[in-house]
Amino acid sequence: MKTKIVCSKSYAQSFRSELNETEFDLVWNNILQTGKQFYEIYKQRSPCILEIIPKYTGIRWDEFAPTEVLIYLVDTNGPSRSNPLTLKIRENIEYMLTVLAHELIHINMPNKLFHNKLVCEDVVNQVTLKVCAQAGISAGTETIEFYKKAMQNQGFKNVNINLEEVTVREALNLVYSL
Ligand SMILES: [Zn+2]
Repeated sequence: MKTKIVCSKSYAQSFRSELNETEFDLVWNNILQTGKQFYEIYKQRSPCILEIIPKYTGIRWDEFAPTEVLIYLVDTNGPSRSNPLTLKIRENIEYMLTVLAHELIHINMPNKLFHNKLVCEDVVNQVTLKVCAQAGISAGTETIEFYKKAMQNQGFKNVNINLEEVTVREALNLVYSL
């Protein structure tokens, strides 16, 4: 699976439709600048991130992901998303790597494999923490822990797969065979 970072002005503009042309140009310049910085660190780290993800999920890239994933950089008030992979630019470039790892895991291990969206999100977060730890990315892990707590507070029981011993695929098969 290959990835490519894309800065598309019209796509980025659709996330900031409240701005006029001149106002958006400032945002656009920021996207281009951040994009350059992000590209520099992403090209060093991406081989490692892409290699680690299937080790934890147990799912090969060619099973569900397209052969090439485009990563669109935007400046939005909303969250990043996995389809199409839309990454929100941030001052903290390393944090962008964490969010990107999370979205790539969604692509490797699509929602449809889970009977419940919350379970999917929970498992994706667990894998994200493992992948980031292995790839030496520390930014944003506290946000994931915070999200986990928030889910618990709403009565959600975390799935807690021991990813050092089993892959997500193996764990899911266990669940399905019950
Ligand atoms: Zn997610």
